[in-house]
Amino acid sequence: MKQESVLVCGTGIAGLACALGLSRAGLSVALLGPRRIPPVRVADDYHPRVYAISGASHSLLDRLGAWRLMDARRITPVEAMEIHGDADGLLDLSAWQDARETLAWIVESGEIERALQQAVQVMGIAWHEDQFVSLESSAHGVRVTTAQGQRFHPALLVGADGARSPVRVAAGIRHDYTPYGDMGVVAHLDIEWPHQNRACQWFTGDSVFALLPMPDTADGPQASLVWSMPEDRAREWLAMDADAQQAYLASHALSITGARLGRLRLRTRPQGFPLTLERSAMVAPGVALVGDAAHRVHPLAGQGLNLGLGDVQDLIQILGAREPHHGPGDARVLARYRRRRAEPVLAMGLVTHGLHRLFGAQCAPLAWARNQGMQVADRLPFLKRQLIRAAAGDN
Ligand SMILES: Cc1cc2nc3c(=O)[nH]c(=O)nc-3n(C[C@H](O)[C@H](O)[C@H](O)COP(=O)(O)OP(=O)(O)OC[C@H]3O[C@@H](n4cnc5c(N)ncnc54)[C@H](O)[C@@H]3O)c2cc1C
Repeated sequence: MKQESVLVCGTGIAGLACALGLSRAGLSVALLGPRRIPPVRVADDYHPRVYAISGASHSLLDRLGAWRLMDARRITPVEAMEIHGDADGLLDLSAWQDARETLAWIVESGEIERALQQAVQVMGIAWHEDQFVSLESSAHGVRVTTAQGQRFHPALLVGADGARSPVRVAAGIRHDYTPYGDMGVVAHLDIEWPHQNRACQWFTGDSVFALLPMPDTADGPQASLVWSMPEDRAREWLAMDADAQQAYLASHALSITGARLGRLRLRTRPQGFPLTLERSAMVAPGVALVGDAAHRVHPLAGQGLNLGLGDVQDLIQILGAREPHHGPGDARVLARYRRRRAEPVLAMGLVTHGLHRLFGAQCAPLAWARNQGMQVADRLPFLKRQLIRAAAGDN
């Protein structure tokens, strides 16, 4: 591997997008990580994970040539969002209120990965199917050793290796970790009434129940559930057999949603993910982190991956615009990256954590205030436009 080069460790969405973007910016890039080709899903079989992709992430994926490689029939534009408080609070955000057509797009994780993998192949980016094990810093970058004993000497190592990031650990990058004690449980559902491209979310006090619009199936309209709930209850639900899981959903969903979308029926088995708030210092000599390796936020705003793609966009821009005498791993260049990401990462952490705490608080005056606050916000067009822009990932 050449000296003036970047090694991207991690081959999830953040790593693939980062390698593509840096390669398109003219850097010599290689990928290190497993090559898992997502199975092609056809007709009514959908990948179990879906993401709400913001306008900024949509633009990045488009510039990287990945958006057009995805099957448009499997992507659902979100045109409106309704957020219900735990009493009578309701915030109704529609794209037209800010003169736009779409707030976000619901896309399968496997579709994004498949499209990015194809684009990586088209760009001819080297892909080492191996695992990062350790690193040593040197005067001209870092020395990386892999599980199969390969050695690399990149000027910059990008850690896109997920929440447990071995790169972050090996580089000694400071990292704060707060478990929520909650799990995010996801599943696809048959719903009784058409969703009309609306995402709906209910704060129930100790859980957040979200339904994201998905393409109709032969059985009728479909939505994807993201239900953040206390971990013990989630584990209990996940351990049940299929009939008991359905009965559990039916008994809770009716009271939470007030039958907003009619009866809900599980199409897929629920899967749970422990939820954490995590933040890191993002860089070390010759190392930069992107995606979940750098931070994690509560999924109630559906912004974790969008935040990671924001890292990728900023890293591409900063490395592409660096002075010719600065290498990609230069400390001044990496400091610019850290400074650029500090505010958006902090802001997203504060917003998601703040909402989680505000709606989790049991005290009566707070419960009154949060629902009143939603009613007031719903009647203020200026504030609503700001909220729409935030929900769409513009700021
Ligand atoms: C319930 C839930 C719902 C969510 N919904 C949304 C949403 O709607 N919108 C949104 O924007 N975000 C959402 N998120 C967040 C989103 O899931 C993550 O932010 C995103 O998946 C992180 O992607 P990543 O590429 O950074 O990490 P990962 O997907 O974890 O990828 C890490 C990669 O690194 C590789 N790796 C690990 N160790 C090594 C090693 N030693 N050597 C080489 N490679 C290695 C792994 O194999 C993997 O390929 C949600 C999260 C949860 C829990």
